[in-house]
Amino acid sequence: MTSSFSKLSLAEPLARAVAEMGYESMTPIQEQAIPVVLQGRDVMGAAQTGTGKTAAFALPLLQRMMKHENASTSPARHPVRALVLLPTRELAVQVAEQVKLYAKYTKLNSAVVFGGMDMKPQTLELKKGVEVLVATPGRLLDHIEAKNTVLNQVEYVVLDEADRMLDIGFLPDLQRILSYLPKQRITLLFSATFSPEIKRLASSYLQDPVTIEVARSNAAASTVEQHFYSVNADDKRRALHQILKQRELKQAFVFVNSKLGCARLARSLEREGLKTTALHGDKSQDERLKALESFKRGEVDLLVCTDVAARGLDIKDVPAVFNFDVPFNAEDYVHRIGRTGRAGLAGLAVSFVASSDTRLVSDIEKLLGSKIEIEPIEFEEDRPRIIAQGRINDGRRMYREGEGPDAPNDGLAREAIESREPRMPREQRAPRERREYTPHRQPAASRDPFFDQPYEPGAAAENQPSWEVGAKANAAGSAVSSNIKPKKKIAALFKTSN
Ligand code: AMP
Repeated sequence: MTSSFSKLSLAEPLARAVAEMGYESMTPIQEQAIPVVLQGRDVMGAAQTGTGKTAAFALPLLQRMMKHENASTSPARHPVRALVLLPTRELAVQVAEQVKLYAKYTKLNSAVVFGGMDMKPQTLELKKGVEVLVATPGRLLDHIEAKNTVLNQVEYVVLDEADRMLDIGFLPDLQRILSYLPKQRITLLFSATFSPEIKRLASSYLQDPVTIEVARSNAAASTVEQHFYSVNADDKRRALHQILKQRELKQAFVFVNSKLGCARLARSLEREGLKTTALHGDKSQDERLKALESFKRGEVDLLVCTDVAARGLDIKDVPAVFNFDVPFNAEDYVHRIGRTGRAGLAGLAVSFVASSDTRLVSDIEKLLGSKIEIEPIEFEEDRPRIIAQGRINDGRRMYREGEGPDAPNDGLAREAIESREPRMPREQRAPRERREYTPHRQPAASRDPFFDQPYEPGAAAENQPSWEVGAKANAAGSAVSSNIKPKKKIAALFKTSN
């Protein structure tokens, strides 16, 4: 049973914001965490993005901070009181946008700082004074070292996606940041899993936390139809094309294990006529946000992404998820397939298993607690290929030797460190490159700022995916990618807010 926000007796400005967001009842994590945080207890929460976790911590923290609310323009009257740490820029932006919406009718300021952008505009914001600071660890340390912010009045710390922060190697940075904070504080730690490392982190920094678990980390959505196909590396793209068509899919996420593989696969699929975009950590912030927006708008049909880049992005109910590469971590499998089949909708998760993936599949079996059947794939067209302008468009000849997403070494480029530059002692660091600042997307005035509209199939005619369009184009003898001159169809697959 979920219950209404009204029973929380939130301050009027917060209640108004929540009502405006259109939330009718609390999600399970909110129901469990909000009262506990309001009481001032530390929390260790197992909850993934998409569960309503941000409001679960932001609302009670804002409520507790309302006593400090003031209209003064003096920065000293707006010290950082709540610090929210996240592993990636996208997550930081997403959480900051939500916090801004929840705090919109209060006089509590918030800001976000993350790497890969000029520090100056962030510095100007920090210097104005902000009560809630959302940050990625590396950039926050830069600001601390530059004395752009002081954290000696922090009362609340949220370590969000803590498992991912540890995976990326942020532990030393986290330890340093936490050492700057007052000992007397409330600490909330959210993690998809409670690994031994996470438990150690919690025992070092949390005091008598209340443990809240809303969904077990290995609880793969029961509405997701899962298939594991045995596919040679060379045949994976062909298998992808076939399943997209056979299952009449409109859009899909395609996960790969490395940045390099991600870019290459996206390029190959694009060349093969599928409207594809890539999301990985080597893309600029601006490019990543654009990629997501165009997927949301239905301008691209396939989003090829890496785990770190996609982690936590709140795009819901994608019809299908492909594991072009079986993930290195079984938990990533659960995260990946959590993109599909949400909210009771049927989803499809397809994994392509190469012969070298046996161990990874057995890790997934262990995590899921059920046996995985690896199915053979039968290719429909082991008949003559369609020839478009003299090019054999079977998807198998697009790579130069040793270049494909499955080429040796690709897997080695584990992207764990992608979301930040490696840190070295400050004195050895070269001066940072100053980049043009592109302000990130402003939160829309509507209740769903960016990624949060559920998947809605649009009209079939408008929504014809590129694999269908491509098939017709090819049949008609055209080899031009449908993405080169996008048709004026816009699938309202993900309605934009506003
Ligand atoms: P989060 O897990 O915090 O990233 O939230 C995922 C999405 O759920 C965001 O789009 C929120 O705006 C939305 N959301 C959060 N809480 C609720 C709620 N109680 N009712 C409806 N939507 C919510």
